[in-house]
Amino acid sequence: MLHRPSAMYLSTRGGIADVPFDRVLLEGLAPDGGLYVPHAWPHWSAQAHQAAAWTSYAELSGRVLHDFVGDALPQEAVHTAAQKGADVFTHPAVTPLVQIGANLWLLELFHGPTLAFKDCAMQVMGHLTEAALAQSGERLLILTATSGDTGAAAVNAFAGREHVEMVVLHPKGRVSPIQRKQMTTVDAPNVLNLAVHGDFDDCQRLVKTLLQDESLRGAGRPPRRVSSVNSINWGRLAGQVTYYIAAASALGGRARFVVPTGNFGDAFAGWVAGRMGAGVESLTAAVNHNDALAQAINTGLYVRRPATPSSSVSMDVQAPSNLERLVFEATGRDPAAVRDVFDTFARDAEVVLGPTLTAPLQREVHAVSVDEGETHREIARVHGETGGYFICPHTAVGVGAARRLAAAGPPIVVLATAHAAKFPDAVRATLGVTAPTPPALAAVQDKPERVVDVEADLDAVKAAMAQMAVEG
Ligand SMILES: *Cc1c(COP(=O)(O)O)cnc(C)c1O
Repeated sequence: MLHRPSAMYLSTRGGIADVPFDRVLLEGLAPDGGLYVPHAWPHWSAQAHQAAAWTSYAELSGRVLHDFVGDALPQEAVHTAAQKGADVFTHPAVTPLVQIGANLWLLELFHGPTLAFKDCAMQVMGHLTEAALAQSGERLLILTATSGDTGAAAVNAFAGREHVEMVVLHPKGRVSPIQRKQMTTVDAPNVLNLAVHGDFDDCQRLVKTLLQDESLRGAGRPPRRVSSVNSINWGRLAGQVTYYIAAASALGGRARFVVPTGNFGDAFAGWVAGRMGAGVESLTAAVNHNDALAQAINTGLYVRRPATPSSSVSMDVQAPSNLERLVFEATGRDPAAVRDVFDTFARDAEVVLGPTLTAPLQREVHAVSVDEGETHREIARVHGETGGYFICPHTAVGVGAARRLAAAGPPIVVLATAHAAKFPDAVRATLGVTAPTPPALAAVQDKPERVVDVEADLDAVKAAMAQMAVEG
């Protein structure tokens, strides 16, 4: 089979190459511990980018996917994934732009079923994964640890999918009631929700151990793979490039993007859009007080410290997994240099990046940290200046970072990553009121919940999994 270079993948650690998209999607992490990237980035002509302005989101998404999937899946399946992935959004533009100030725009990414941007890619991934499994004749067990938004989006995207089983671990009592209900009220026999007596790190540790557990793989008929759907999975990023291209073209061809950032997945998708020729004039990664990424890019010292809670909970990350993809590019695609950086980081919990690496990193991405006080002030300021528009705390971090850019220049676009109604406590703490509840949230309020409580212990988790109807 002949594949285009943008649809064949290699690992950032150099141990793997020539992997087609369907395997990348089902594997998640490359077997050598690296992250998958295409052999070459696709590039669209200026005319193609211009035409994006009058192309439907579904069609644009299909064109992006076509470049990254190639012949690995039937064209019809890719087309369907793009169409259905857009159809579940409640706004006709899918990801509309809203102006909130002079030269300042929000890209609303929260019109999907779980009201956060993760729906944009996760819905598409659900359809593509089903197609990949139908083709390979395998089953897939998806294991996910979540602090809220990823689990909700994943459950919604994979509920009822053929050949897929999903186990979602969340820390009991530490996700918001809304986030929990978005996961636990989905009535699908292929989804198991576990409320773990522990914190998010316990959940993540359990998932990591389970991902290496040979007893979960293989044995049954048809054979079963085990994987994860966080943003190390290239399928997530491929589904996020589209809205950058759509927004840049809608604003006349150039824009400065500001991205509220945790694992740097969404921001890296923006970098990819720029490489594809979209008018990404600049890219700013906005982080909260968990600022390991900003320190790494701005000072060259990358240190892992424990994350401390903030109101932008989905960004409480101190070891952003997708930094590896950007470092790979900044080294001129040198896997030895990537291994050096991330092996040192894993061993010593810190690594000096040095000027040969920080110079190219700084050329590609600005990184800005916004503290809690500023986050709350932005929620209030935007609400006051616009006559009542609510932003979520993650979006507020982005708006805070956007205020530091020069006013003169192409339009500034902040990615609005979640609906404010998903984070009522943070919004109420600032404004004394909460955003009106959208129908998608109201619908989950009174539905029965399906969730199993477990100790933060491997045997307890495996015992709960053994009760799953589709186990074995
Ligand atoms: C996940 C999430 C983010 C961070 O996205 P990354 O791709 O991890 O950088 C930001 N805001 C919200 C609301 C999220 O759910």
